[in-house]
Amino acid sequence: MSFVVAIDGPAGTGKGTVTKILAQKLNLVNIDTGAMYRSVTLECINKNINPNEINKIKEILENIDIKLENVSGTQKVFLNGKDVSEDIRTPEVDNLVAVYSALKVVRDKITPMQRKMGENQDVIMEGRDIRNCCIS
Ligand code: C5P
Repeated sequence: MSFVVAIDGPAGTGKGTVTKILAQKLNLVNIDTGAMYRSVTLECINKNINPNEINKIKEILENIDIKLENVSGTQKVFLNGKDVSEDIRTPEVDNLVAVYSALKVVRDKITPMQRKMGENQDVIMEGRDIRNCCIS
């Protein structure tokens, strides 16, 4: 059985900082849940899909592939095989991620993905409402 540490709490309380330190100290894979929502947002922006186009969003979510990997000590985010670690941190994504991440269709896809990532490896996850993802 794998070991899952969940860090929950409101924005601006230092979840990210604590998560990074604990990941290093306890040798856990850091599941950056925000990066996953940012990746979905980026994909929608790239494909010109608005938040109200639920069927189109469902379609891209069907085959979306998001990987969080540690490459030479740096956490990298891959979206459908492409390194988007920097692209997901643009002001455009910053502005829109709250809208896309609030959609039920998006949460219904991302939450099980996060749970799956914690099944076979020892992980630490950080994010609002992360407990809902880990406790099943
Ligand atoms: O942590 P980060 O700033 O990268 O998260 C980006 C956004 O993704 C948050 O502002 C929030 O809107 C959304 N998010 C979420 N649930 C999570 C993590 C992030 O809705 N568990």
